Amino acid sequence: MMKVRATLVILLAFAAVAAAQDAPPTRRWYKGNTHTHTLNSDGDSTPDEVVRWYREHNYDFLVLTDHNFLTSVDGLNALHAADEKFLVIRGEEVSDWFGKKPIHVNGLNVQRLVKPQGGTSVADVLQRNVDAVREASGVPHINHPNYGWAISAEDLSKIERDRLFEIYNGHPLVNNMGGGGAPSMEEVWDILLTGGKLLYGIAVDDAHHFKRPWSADAARPGQGWVVVRAEKLAAPELLAAMERGDFYASTGVEITEVSVSARSFRISIKASGDTKYRTTYIGRGGAILQTALTNESEYLVRGDEGYVRARVVDSNGKTAWLQPVMIVKK
Ligand SMILES: [Zn+2]
Ligand SMILES: [Zn+2]
Repeated sequence: MMKVRATLVILLAFAAVAAAQDAPPTRRWYKGNTHTHTLNSDGDSTPDEVVRWYREHNYDFLVLTDHNFLTSVDGLNALHAADEKFLVIRGEEVSDWFGKKPIHVNGLNVQRLVKPQGGTSVADVLQRNVDAVREASGVPHINHPNYGWAISAEDLSKIERDRLFEIYNGHPLVNNMGGGGAPSMEEVWDILLTGGKLLYGIAVDDAHHFKRPWSADAARPGQGWVVVRAEKLAAPELLAAMERGDFYASTGVEITEVSVSARSFRISIKASGDTKYRTTYIGRGGAILQTALTNESEYLVRGDEGYVRARVVDSNGKTAWLQPVMIVKK
C-alpha cells in the first residue's frame, strides 16, 4: 500500500508553531472592521461618531477608509482609546476606475495618501494601486470584486503582493452572491485557490450610513468583520496576523478556537441560544470534503485536497469563513 505523505504549506500555522516552540506568545482574538466611511467621503457621520459606534458595539479595532482621503486618527485614538482597549487605524479606500469599472483597493495603515494610479487593464489598475499601497507602507486588500461586475477571478489571479480580498462586503449593492452566470465571491475564492493562488478572505461592513439603520438600502455597520489572533492590539501585529491568515471572517458566527497542524484542522464554535451550526470543509474545485453538525469538529488531512478551508453557517444564516491552507502532495 502506498503511503501518501503530505506536507502542508501552512502560511497561517507555521509561523505560529515556530513561535510557539521558542516562547509561546500570548495571543488574543481581536474583532475589527477594515472598511468604513465617514463624512470625509460619502459617509453620513463624523469620524468621531463612526468610531463611537464600533467602540460601543464591542469591536476592538477599526480602520477608517474614506475614498481617496486619509482621515486623521490621532485625535480619535486620544479620545477613544486612552485605555488602550480600542484602536483606530489610519486607512484609505484608493478608488480608481478602468473605463466604467470601479476598482477599489484599501490601504490599511498607510503612512501617506495614495492617489489612484490608473492603468491599461483591470488587472493593471489593481496591481498599480496594490503596489502604491505597499510603497506607502500599507497593507492592501482588494474590495468587492463583483461591484459593477468589475473584477474577475482571472484578474485576481494575476495580482501580486496582495494577500487579502473581500469575500463578504456589507454594502447592499456589491453582488456578493454572484448570479446570471457570474460566480459568487466564495466561488471566485475556490477558483483562485484551485489555481494555486492563495488569498485570504475578509468580511467587512463598507459602512456609509449610521443614521438610518432601519433603511434596507443603507450600507450599515455591523454586517461583516474579521476576528484576528494577535499578540497585542497594535496595527503592525494585527495586520501581520491577517497577512499570514491568522484570522477568520464572520457575519455573526463566533469561533472560539481554530487549530491547524500537518494532519488536521480543528474548529470550536461558540454556542449561542438554541442556534444550530453546520461546518463544511472544502477543497479543490470547491468540493465538499466533510460536513460536521457538532459545535466542535475535526477534519483529518488526506494529502490530496489541494487546499482545505472551512465555512460555518448557522441556522439563522450567519456565516464564518476560516482561512485556507494549501496542501502540497509530496
Ligand atoms: Zn468601494
Ligand atoms: Zn467603501
